[in-house]
Amino acid sequence: MSDAIIPQGLWTGDYYNQGTGKSDIFDTLKEECGVFGVFGHPEAASLSYYGLHALQHRGEESAGICVTNGDEFNYHRGMGLVKEVFDRDLLASLHGDRSIGHVRYSTNGDSSLMNAQPLVFKYRDGDLAVATNGNIVNAPQIRHQLEQSGSIFQTTSDTEVIAHLIARSPKDFVEAAREALAQLVGGFAFMLLTNDKMIIASDPHGLRPLTMGRLGDAYLFSSETCAFEVVGAESIRDILPGEMLVLDAEGLHEDRYAQPQRKALCAMEYIYFSRPDSDMNGSNMHAARKRMGQVMAQESFVDADVVTGVPDSSISAAIGYAEQTGIPYELGLIKNKYTGRTFIQPSQELREQGVKMKLSAVRRVVEGKRVVMIDDSIVRGTTSRRIVNLLREAGATEVHVRITSPPFKNPCFYGIDTPSRAELIASSKSIEEIRKEINADSLEFLSAEGLISAVEGDNARDYKGGLCMACFDNDYPTRTDFEGEKKFGCSC
Ligand code: SF4
Repeated sequence: MSDAIIPQGLWTGDYYNQGTGKSDIFDTLKEECGVFGVFGHPEAASLSYYGLHALQHRGEESAGICVTNGDEFNYHRGMGLVKEVFDRDLLASLHGDRSIGHVRYSTNGDSSLMNAQPLVFKYRDGDLAVATNGNIVNAPQIRHQLEQSGSIFQTTSDTEVIAHLIARSPKDFVEAAREALAQLVGGFAFMLLTNDKMIIASDPHGLRPLTMGRLGDAYLFSSETCAFEVVGAESIRDILPGEMLVLDAEGLHEDRYAQPQRKALCAMEYIYFSRPDSDMNGSNMHAARKRMGQVMAQESFVDADVVTGVPDSSISAAIGYAEQTGIPYELGLIKNKYTGRTFIQPSQELREQGVKMKLSAVRRVVEGKRVVMIDDSIVRGTTSRRIVNLLREAGATEVHVRITSPPFKNPCFYGIDTPSRAELIASSKSIEEIRKEINADSLEFLSAEGLISAVEGDNARDYKGGLCMACFDNDYPTRTDFEGEKKFGCSC
């Protein structure tokens, strides 16, 4: 077992995200975390490595894998990217046929090795490892109660509460986990590993994505299906809201710890977070984004010479917009793939330069042209203004901004790092005021109905298309009014 620290400056910078092409230099939303589990494969550690690598866009601050063969736990965690934290020798030392792994983007809890997951504990029945994606809204309250009754926490991560709830229960592990999960309110995908069992669980609304695959006789679990493709596994199905899968020597037992509530998968997974090659709820992300662009074109057409998308997350939608309107799609913006991670410079001037280092307008494409620029969201507005100005400096005569989500007005309690409501530009400004602020010739947002119809495609589903849309409509699927400090973002 080991924990490794990579020198701080190497990982606190603005790494360019593989999945979305965004980085910390932009004021965009941040991913939460990614989890990957294996049960019943002799190369569990290597599969986890490749799986986590495919999920790297969900968290770049730390990575960890915990493996067991039924006896001792072998684990390694470190600060940095998966490829920086693990090497061949380390992976070869992680023996076992079952594992849970994690990539972390921290928002709640310090960004430090202490909070890197999987968290590993000794308790009365042996070893326990925990990996999670999401946020437990009532964790501060539960933690306070546990501390009042004597629990001593090892980390500042809210994820630790579940380990304490399990350890304090007089019941066996499965019943203790069932009761512990039932106490949690929020959006979460959990992986729990003991010496002889693994538990996979999703919150009662299915807010965070979690899916199951098979590789031969082994079961695999992942935040996104793209990780199954990488290891040659077959995707089987999504984990259902309130479901609790128990895996042991007898195989897979499908169970639940809570009745499913209204399905509310995070809409931002479709709009921005997930990789375009992932499928969720029966929809492929690229196809859904392309439909968003098509619906956007139907809702708010503007005559122009070229359509371009902010790379990478908005390219699919830009292609859809172009197909629908007949206006040619062009690569008007490109990202520099080789910037790697650099230190964030504090001054505004250097931040502007930072954007140019990572994103360029293609002068030959946009010069003298009326450009439709497709992007996925506007958070504070500063990034949109910089990109519009890049296009203007490259000679665009008009820049029309089309956003493939409704105005982002409310913070997230379920694992997405968002600024406070006061910092969200759409919470206080009209669309016309935002247009002026970002220096665009016109600005339109996709309607909520348009977003739902694009996500559903041909499969009309239930209420709101099974989506959480709280950051747009303030309709949070769970209680959020617990005592104590409100935590926006991710507790994993
Ligand atoms: S509030 Fe927004 S970002 Fe958070 S889970 Fe709901 S849709 Fe996703």
